[in-house]
Amino acid sequence: MSCNPAIGGQGKGQLVKDLDVLGGLMPVAADETGIQFRRLNTKKGPAVWSSRAQSDKNQYALFMQRKLANVPNLTLVEGEVVDIRSQRDGGYLLTLGSGEETIARSVVLTVGTFLRGLMHVGPHQQPGGRFGDGFSGSLSESLQKHFGIEWRRFKTGTPPRLDAASIDWSSVEAQSGDEIPSPFSLWSSGAKNKIKCYLTHTHSEVHACIEKNIDRSPLFNGQITSVGPRYCPSIEDKVMRFGERTRHQIFLEPEGLDTPSVYVNGLSTSLPSDIQETIVSMIPGLYSARFLRYGYAVEYDCIDPCVLTRGLRHKHYSGLYFAGQVNGTSGYEEAASQGFVAGLAASCELRGEESLLLERSQSYIGVLIDDLTKLGALEPYRMFTSRCEYRMSVREDNADIRLAHVSKKYGLLSSEQLQYLQERIHVKQLLKQKTLGMAAGSHSYVMLSRMITHDQMSMDEWIPIARQELLSDGTFNEGSGILENLFVEVKYQGYLEKEQKTIAKLHRLGGLKIPETFSYEQIKGLSSEARHRLLRERPATVEHAKKLFGVTPADILVLLRALNALDKRPLQP
Ligand SMILES: Cc1cc2nc3c(=O)[nH]c(=O)nc-3n(C[C@H](O)[C@H](O)[C@H](O)COP(=O)(O)OP(=O)(O)OC[C@H]3O[C@@H](n4cnc5c(N)ncnc54)[C@H](O)[C@@H]3O)c2cc1C
Repeated sequence: MSCNPAIGGQGKGQLVKDLDVLGGLMPVAADETGIQFRRLNTKKGPAVWSSRAQSDKNQYALFMQRKLANVPNLTLVEGEVVDIRSQRDGGYLLTLGSGEETIARSVVLTVGTFLRGLMHVGPHQQPGGRFGDGFSGSLSESLQKHFGIEWRRFKTGTPPRLDAASIDWSSVEAQSGDEIPSPFSLWSSGAKNKIKCYLTHTHSEVHACIEKNIDRSPLFNGQITSVGPRYCPSIEDKVMRFGERTRHQIFLEPEGLDTPSVYVNGLSTSLPSDIQETIVSMIPGLYSARFLRYGYAVEYDCIDPCVLTRGLRHKHYSGLYFAGQVNGTSGYEEAASQGFVAGLAASCELRGEESLLLERSQSYIGVLIDDLTKLGALEPYRMFTSRCEYRMSVREDNADIRLAHVSKKYGLLSSEQLQYLQERIHVKQLLKQKTLGMAAGSHSYVMLSRMITHDQMSMDEWIPIARQELLSDGTFNEGSGILENLFVEVKYQGYLEKEQKTIAKLHRLGGLKIPETFSYEQIKGLSSEARHRLLRERPATVEHAKKLFGVTPADILVLLRALNALDKRPLQP
């Protein structure tokens, strides 16, 4: 965990839940090493409910290492890859820094922020992918020389870490985890809150100090020119961009149970160390805080993901895959999702099988891959619920229903796990049918259904009653997951049906022909990027238009309406 010791969050929690059904390790690791669990956005609609867990940073790494060490048929080799080149008879020759060579039929590059990584603390610059690690110097050159890879430079940053013993905890506001913490995984031992986090704020004097010293920030004095993450700005960015704000939130998050290190969430910076000390000492609760590490920024090489297929393979080189931050994304969850996609695609390619193509309407992973490979990433890409146009249907609580068949097809889970999932889905469907009155329902089903549809109860009030009525036999002790799904499916049945109809319509109408002379200039509501692409490419069908770089699903709906109006005929392929 290079940065924040937390997994999940808005849009990212959905990725993690999906990975759980697809056999990923991240959700289990997050639960087993979790120290605080919170569900975000619960005051809003279910489309945006997102889980987040803070983990014990050291335990998380140990958990992952132990798991990987015990995966059958997996050999771990430690070393820096300095050169990769194609073999004449297929596959790749990899050279390590030690001079050792190895041959691989497939390579998945997950090199994160390490390629020509350069860290900045004020004027001080040091090669490195993250604090305490080295950098990868020659691999960028090797990939450029042998495969024509073109690099762009992105940047990210991290806040200081402070010593817990030096913080005045009595003058900051405690933030507890959820009363009933909910785990990410169906396969972990559950979720337990073990610590509190705390909230404090910057104020106008802190902002004035940053403004006064802004020319000492590498982000503002021209020392760093690469593009940073828009949604995770540095404190100097926030102060300069949002001058009208009189304060910014600072969350104090312990990095684990056995470490004094506290992550200062909200204070990412690359200002020189003396300025970092000054601004921290002005923040309530941190007047006497001791630094364990200064905040820093890091610049690194990444690729344009448009050169990749939807399996994350380079379009021109079979067996050469890229996944994670090197593809222009930001975040552990986005990296894990890509690792899953590339790993599975590489294994399918080796076996001569067709790989998995997750649709946007099926999973956030589908949205991520589609966005990256179609739109590219001109700045570090972070997942959000707003990126998923079908977010009412693609929720955390129905990952099993959406993806269990994928796990079965590709052998991603054990037979016991698959059987459990199938039983779980069956119970969900049965309860839904009964509650909606589609099957012979008892008095309790009718009553429970009315409570939901007449807005008589919140989900939190409803679930304990429903659990007693519907799941009293104890088969599913994690009943709240099942009942949450039931609540949402019943309450929002109308919306869900409408969204499913739109998805089906888009699938059905893919073959609809677009006249060669179709005047895209006249269509109202198309994004300018889509209009430009459509004019240039003149796709023959709607399916072809859907695949164009820069044409979003919202543009396709506008296009369908325009085609319909043109023909004055019902939408039929
Ligand atoms: C300072 C910093 C701040 C960050 N801040 C945020 C943030 O605010 N929000 C956010 O969402 N994300 C942030 N991140 C990003 C987050 O850490 C990454 O998104 C995530 O770790 C990417 O995972 P990855 O697997 O792609 O790469 P990494 O986790 O970076 O792992 C790359 C691995 O590849 C290895 N490697 C590299 N080159 C070679 C080579 N040539 N040979 C062999 N091994 C090699 C490295 O040793 C490392 O183990 C930050 C990262 C850093 C460094």
